[in-house]
Amino acid sequence: MQQDQKDSSQQIASTIQGGLSLPDRSYYLTEDDRSQKLRDQYVEHVAKMFVLLGDTPEKASDEAKSVMAIETALAKGSMDRVELRDPAKRYHIMSKEDLEALSPDYDWQTYLKEVTIGEFSTLNVATPDYFKAMNAEIDAASLDSIKSYLRWHALRTAAPALSKPFVDENFNFFSATLQGQKEQTPRWKRCTRATDTALGEAVGQDWVKQYFPPDAKANMDKLVVALEQALGQDIQQLPWMSNATKVEAKAKLDAIRNKIGYPENWRDYSSLTVKRDDYLGNVERGQSFERARNYAKLGKPVDEKEWGMTPPTVNAYYSPSNNDINFPAGILQPPFFDNSKDPAVNCGGIGTVIGHEMTHGFDDQGSKYDPKGNVRPWFTAEDRAKFTERTDCEVKEYDGFKVAEGQNLNGKLTLGENTADNGGIRIAFQALEAALTQQGATAEPGYVDGKRDGYTAQQRFFITFGQLWCQNQTEQNARVLAKTDPHSTGEWRAKGTVRNFDEFGKAFGCKAGHAMMPVNSCRVW
Ligand SMILES: [Zn+2]
Repeated sequence: MQQDQKDSSQQIASTIQGGLSLPDRSYYLTEDDRSQKLRDQYVEHVAKMFVLLGDTPEKASDEAKSVMAIETALAKGSMDRVELRDPAKRYHIMSKEDLEALSPDYDWQTYLKEVTIGEFSTLNVATPDYFKAMNAEIDAASLDSIKSYLRWHALRTAAPALSKPFVDENFNFFSATLQGQKEQTPRWKRCTRATDTALGEAVGQDWVKQYFPPDAKANMDKLVVALEQALGQDIQQLPWMSNATKVEAKAKLDAIRNKIGYPENWRDYSSLTVKRDDYLGNVERGQSFERARNYAKLGKPVDEKEWGMTPPTVNAYYSPSNNDINFPAGILQPPFFDNSKDPAVNCGGIGTVIGHEMTHGFDDQGSKYDPKGNVRPWFTAEDRAKFTERTDCEVKEYDGFKVAEGQNLNGKLTLGENTADNGGIRIAFQALEAALTQQGATAEPGYVDGKRDGYTAQQRFFITFGQLWCQNQTEQNARVLAKTDPHSTGEWRAKGTVRNFDEFGKAFGCKAGHAMMPVNSCRVW
C-alpha cells in the first residue's frame, strides 16, 4: 500500500520492481574487474547454499547460473536509483487489466487472491518497464530455471533464521565479501534487532518508560519550536526566492506536524503468535503480520498517527506525503541529545537532525509536495530554475567527494540528503545564536570567559556535529553505500556540510580559500 501522491489522504495498492539479491542493478551490469569478480563470488555463494539444501554440486552450480541469468535480466529492466527518486517517474495509475496487459504471462489474478489483498480497480504501477522485462524473462527462461530462482529467494530470505551453516554462509557472502565485515554481529544483537523488527511497538513501550522521561520530551518540544522559528527566518531572508514562493514555503513549514518519542496509540499484536522454540516460525509469522497490517490499509483513511520507525531506533525521518517529522526516542539520547548539556551541544547534535528533517520538506524531492503532502508545484517557474541552479551546485560538489579508490559519491543520488544536511546545520546554528542572544553567552552554565572545556559555544556546536558522524567503515562498505545509499558517507556528511557553511571557518579561524572554507561553496537553503 502507499499514499496516493496526488491525494495523500488515500491508501492505494501499488507494485514496484524487485527480485534482485545484490544491492543494486549496477552490480549486475557494470563491466569492470571488481564487479565481474563479485558476480563470480555471488554465483559460487548461491551454489554453496543449494548444496547445503542437499543438492549435488553439479546441480547446484547449474541452479546458481540460472539465478544469475534471471536476476541479470530483471536488473536490466529495473529503473536506476536516481530516476526512482523522482515522484513523477514512479507514478503510473493503471487498471488491473492494464497491468495484466504489461505482463500477461504472470498470473496476477491468482497472485492477488493468494496474498489475500482486498478489492481494488486501479493501482500505481511504479515501474512499468520492469514488469515488461519480467514478462519477457518469464517467456525466455525454462520452468526449471524459474523454480531455481524462486527456491533461491525463499532460501536467501530465510537464511539468517536457519541453522548455523546457512547463517555462516549467508554472512560470508553478503556481509564479509560484499561489505568487508570482519566478524558476525554478536548473537544477542541479532536477536534484539529481530525482536525490534517483529515486535518493536511492544518491547518499545518498556524501553521508553526507562529511557525517555517526560522532561526530555518537554525539552525536545522547545528545541523543535526554536528550529521552526529559525527555518521561518531563513526562508524570509533567502536572497534568491520571490515573495510569492516564500509565502507558499512558509505555509508548508507551518503545516509540518511533529511526532516525538513514541506513538500515541500502540500497535496491537494480539493476533501474532510467538513460540519459544520456533525462531524461523516467529520470523515468518512476524512478516505475515506486517504484510496483513499493510494490506488492511487498502481503501481506509490514512492513519496520521502511525510511525514508520520503532521507538528505540537511532534514526529520524520526514514523510513528504504526511508532511511530518518523526523522532523516535532512540535518537533522543547522547550523543544526539543530552538534557544535562548546554544548548551548543544539543543544537549541534539533535538540533542539526531536526533541521535536517525539516529541510527535507524543501529539498529537490520534498519541495514537489505541498503542505497537505500532495505532489503539486508551488514554486514560481523562475524560482524553480534558481533552485535547480543551486541544487546543481551541490550535485557537482558531492560528485567530487571520494570514498574509496575509483569510487566517488553520486551527487544526484545523495542530493536530497545533502540539501537537508546543509540546510539543517544552518538553521540549528541560527537557533543556537538566538539562544545565546536570549540568555547571554557568558551566563551559560559551565562557561568561564566565554569557553567551556576550552571551547567557545560555536566550537562546541561543530565538535558535537562532527562527533555525530564518527564511524568505523570498511572500504567495501563505503563502496556499497556510494552506489545504494541516498545519504553521503559519514565523512562527507561532516566535511561536505561544514565547508559550505562559513560559520565553521569563522569559529575555528580558517581563512577564505582554505580547504574547509572554499571560496565557491554551495547553498540552497
Ligand atoms: Zn534525511
